[in-house]
Amino acid sequence: MDYAALRKKMVEEQLILRQIKDQRVLEAFSKIERHRFVPEELKINAYADFPLPIGEWQTISQPYIVALMTEYLGLGGSEKILEIGTGSGYQTAILAELAKEVYTIERVETLAKKAQTIFDELGYTNVKIKISDGTLGWQEEAPFDRIIITAASPRIPLPLTEQLREGGKMILPLGESFSQILTLVEKKNGELKLTPVCGCVFVPLIGKYGCPK
Ligand code: SAM
Repeated sequence: MDYAALRKKMVEEQLILRQIKDQRVLEAFSKIERHRFVPEELKINAYADFPLPIGEWQTISQPYIVALMTEYLGLGGSEKILEIGTGSGYQTAILAELAKEVYTIERVETLAKKAQTIFDELGYTNVKIKISDGTLGWQEEAPFDRIIITAASPRIPLPLTEQLREGGKMILPLGESFSQILTLVEKKNGELKLTPVCGCVFVPLIGKYGCPK
């Protein structure tokens, strides 16, 4: 399988043609081998334009959605990021390329362990992973310049709004089980400004400040 060719096609047809413009984001997508993050039997579809199952009833998101969320974070390279929902670790790896430090939380232990193995193989020393309820955030490491939630919640988890730095940005799918609005949250003068981006469908954010089990 010529993964490099498939990756180039993904960047051109799924990202550039859909107006992803941040060159650093495009470079990260061109570099990271997405097929490493998907189960063996699905590698043939690793660069396809849809989400894929990764086990434990969870998914790796569609490449375009990963790119869009990343672009909205507006990363320059110096940021400390909190990610909720490590999943396969693909979005984490993209963030690790574009920011200074990534703190990522996953509630499913098997997924977290698999992701850690790939981070070790790829040599990411700026990623720290924790198995926990991400709706509680990572208090010891707060505040964060950016927060990204890759699972759907009916509300913005309160601890995460508190752990977002003044002037910081958060992106998350806000809404009920089967359809949500991808929403950019900006913290200015202690107030949260919400901007809807587009409709989306994510698996639920299960936790104390998200959805019940
Ligand atoms: N960004 C991931 C990727 O690139 O593969 C996809 C994430 S998947 C759509 C959502 C993940 O959020 C799942 O792995 C799920 O187990 C996790 N999750 C759901 N609720 C969570 C919570 N409260 N804390 C941490 N992780 C959570």
